[in-house]
Amino acid sequence: MKNLCWIRRDLRLHDHAALSHALRGGETTLVFIFDPHILDKLENKSDKRVTFIYQSLQELEQKLQKKGSSLIIRYGKPEEEIPKLCQELKIEKVYTNRDYEPYAKKRDPLIEQNLKKLKVGFETFKDSVFFEKHEVLTGSGTVFKVFTPYKNKWLSLFDEVPEFECPLKKLTVFANPKNILAFNWYPVIGFVEDIPLLTGGTSFAQKRLKNFDKVMEDYKEARNFPAIEGTSYLSVYIRFGNISIRDMIRAALETKNEGSTTWLSEIIWRDFYHTILDAFSYVEKSAFKKEYDHIKWPGNPQHFTAWCEGRTGVPIVDAAMRCLNQTGMMHNRLRMIVASYLCKILLIDYRRGEHYFADHLLDYDLAANNGGWQWSSSSGCDAQPYFRIFNPYTQSEKFDADGNFIRQWLPELAKVPKKEIHRPDTLLYQDYPAPIVSYETNRMLCSKVYAAAIQKKISPDK
Ligand SMILES: Cc1cc2nc3c(=O)[nH]c(=O)nc-3n(C[C@H](O)[C@H](O)[C@H](O)COP(=O)(O)OP(=O)(O)OC[C@H]3O[C@@H](n4cnc5c(N)ncnc54)[C@H](O)[C@@H]3O)c2cc1C
Repeated sequence: MKNLCWIRRDLRLHDHAALSHALRGGETTLVFIFDPHILDKLENKSDKRVTFIYQSLQELEQKLQKKGSSLIIRYGKPEEEIPKLCQELKIEKVYTNRDYEPYAKKRDPLIEQNLKKLKVGFETFKDSVFFEKHEVLTGSGTVFKVFTPYKNKWLSLFDEVPEFECPLKKLTVFANPKNILAFNWYPVIGFVEDIPLLTGGTSFAQKRLKNFDKVMEDYKEARNFPAIEGTSYLSVYIRFGNISIRDMIRAALETKNEGSTTWLSEIIWRDFYHTILDAFSYVEKSAFKKEYDHIKWPGNPQHFTAWCEGRTGVPIVDAAMRCLNQTGMMHNRLRMIVASYLCKILLIDYRRGEHYFADHLLDYDLAANNGGWQWSSSSGCDAQPYFRIFNPYTQSEKFDADGNFIRQWLPELAKVPKKEIHRPDTLLYQDYPAPIVSYETNRMLCSKVYAAAIQKKISPDK
């Protein structure tokens, strides 16, 4: 049997469901496709995520070459490239891991149909999540819309963590492949290299996990402070599958303490948001709670630009946004602060912020990002209530008490004393902008704007 394993958001050679099944089924060739449907949407042609993928593929290829094999790389529409490749290599079956994003859910059945015409099999596997949407259900068989009961059910179903062995000796051996080490794919795909702060590849992911193991115990507290490395920084590695979700869960289970329990809970949030996206695909474009689509956002475009550029006059917001713009990374606490500030203080549609994050986050993941934004804007399932509005100044005092994070990203405030840094007097520190809106005024306006939309639920549009 000649098999093809198509890797997508699972760029590794271990604990890989599709690869494991393919190898057990027969001789297997690995393929990765640079997909113009996805790449053409990226406006920035030096997108660091493309380099992250490239680095991951380079590491993978080095490992494959040691086994005498090689990764096949193609640039083109997968619905055309996969069938073409199957004909060229006389493939009998294609194996791949499931992807729950709306684009993938349209693409994969189309490919399956095209392959059927060629009498080539197509099978998909659960890999990127621990439980899929149909596995964690309420007593009446529906998908949970509230996190805590979902988590309790998830934990009650949780038994052991499977490991998908990948016996690489069954990989196809090639004489002269056109591989990613010998050939520069950047000009072909229309991108230039831009090195991310975190390097793509399984070895880097494993090193991060090992380092995090040493501090996991303190995670419950430390995860709140952006100026320290209190979290794992693994989100980009799980996004592109350099490690498996099971690797992370195993690490959490090996260390039994408050920190690891809290960390496991965050991993369950990830499964929860993937379930929500899979079960309610409309959230990609609309509010989970439909009445929130009635909100008439009064915010203005200049304020959106100031938010994007880190010039709002609120130091913690500006420091977070400048950090994002320069590194592609942002701490979870800061994501919550800037998201809440955009939709509840600047009164700008959460989708504008969601799209900005989608363009800039190294770890961008549709399910987690959409979940995070809908949580912050109160439009999501199990979101915070709309009248709960983060105060960026008190958040800043609490979670960046010494102002170290602010000083790192706002050099113009480097000399401002600790007491004043969270809300500096801009008459004294003229290099820094005055707040573009009044927090106190706009938080009251926010309640009115939201209430007006939500009341429409009671008396809907005629
Ligand atoms: C507005 C907003 C947007 C977000 N966008 C994304 C995104 O595009 N991609 C993304 O991976 N996460 C997103 N998150 C969730 C969270 O901020 C990141 O997962 C986290 O900051 C990544 O850092 P870490 O790997 O050090 O996480 P850790 O704290 O070490 O957590 C471990 C892992 O659990 C998962 N995780 C942690 N928190 C969450 C969460 N709240 N929701 C879902 N999964 C979680 C991640 O996979 C993470 O790597 C967003 C949150 C908000 C509020």
